[in-house]
Amino acid sequence: MDQVVILGSGPAGWTAAIYASRSLLSPVLITGNALGGQAATTSEIENYPGFPQGIGGMDLMQLMQEQAERLGTRVFFDEVTSVNLRQHPFQVQTYGATYEAGTLIIATGVAPRLLGVPGETELKGRGVSYCATCDGFFYKDKKVAVVGGGDSAVVEAIYLTRFASRVYLVHRRHELRAQKITQERALKNDKIELIWDSVVTEVLGPDRVTGVRLNNVKTGAESTLEVDGVFSYIGNLPNTQLFAGQLELDDAGYILTDRDRHTSVPGVYAAGDVQERTLKQVATAVGSGAMAAMEAEKFIAELEGHAYPARQG
Ligand code: NAP
Repeated sequence: MDQVVILGSGPAGWTAAIYASRSLLSPVLITGNALGGQAATTSEIENYPGFPQGIGGMDLMQLMQEQAERLGTRVFFDEVTSVNLRQHPFQVQTYGATYEAGTLIIATGVAPRLLGVPGETELKGRGVSYCATCDGFFYKDKKVAVVGGGDSAVVEAIYLTRFASRVYLVHRRHELRAQKITQERALKNDKIELIWDSVVTEVLGPDRVTGVRLNNVKTGAESTLEVDGVFSYIGNLPNTQLFAGQLELDDAGYILTDRDRHTSVPGVYAAGDVQERTLKQVATAVGSGAMAAMEAEKFIAELEGHAYPARQG
């Protein structure tokens, strides 16, 4: 049995791993299919303390991984296919192995919400992207649309101006949700053109993205915008399908935790975006990852020589 098994390789997962390693618990961390999580797809992180010039999301995640590994975390590049939290030790099944876990820290994060319009899925990887850091380079001197008005959309629209000749920021309202400093930078950027009050109704192909159909939600007017790429940043959905029916989730599917990151099952903790509905930041994910690991350590110490606590509720 492994004393601590951590699911997810974003800031919450790596921090939990660092703390559990320093408690000499020799944690196992299963990365999932998106190494570094959402943070790794962020071009520039400017508000995580300690990096006065900012740092690339991928670089920050690599540093956290290096730190966790140096301290003794065992990292497995694998994906979880099922978990059984109804027995103790908990069982974690991946494509490659089965793990028995004394405690489980869930840091599986969130995944991009899809636009849900014709052409989106068909043209994914052929002009439709959810990661400017990964794909921006392919749009040198091309035109792209970024969809959304939150921090992700606006930050990544600014990033894309390094490559693209024109970046259309398509937002469904006439006011951005992003932080003011970010908004100001976008509004001052000559390469960014805002398209207000509009939603994408179709991504046009057929072999590669050639444009998007837009609908003005105020006037009802339909139009076509010619672009070579579409970067969608319209929010996220929690990665909790594995836990449905075994852990208490809220109405949006986020894992419910108490202040100390305990879930509804003793010995199972959740950290980072998967349990965070309001302030999804690297700084908050790091904090909750540390708390989850410390609680896991306490649980293991209390369990020594005792039976696993009866299920609550
Ligand atoms: P978000 O804050 O939820 O913003 C999603 C945006 O997409 C909103 O502008 C929303 O419009 C729009 N939207 C939602 N559903 C839509 C739909 N069906 N069609 C068209 N537009 C739609 O998501 P996010 O920008 O990915 O950010 C997620 C979290 O990470 C936030 O807490 C954010 O602050 C944080 N984050 C922070 C930073 C940073 O601090 N530098 C960077 C990235 C992300 P409305 O505005 O009309 O609701």
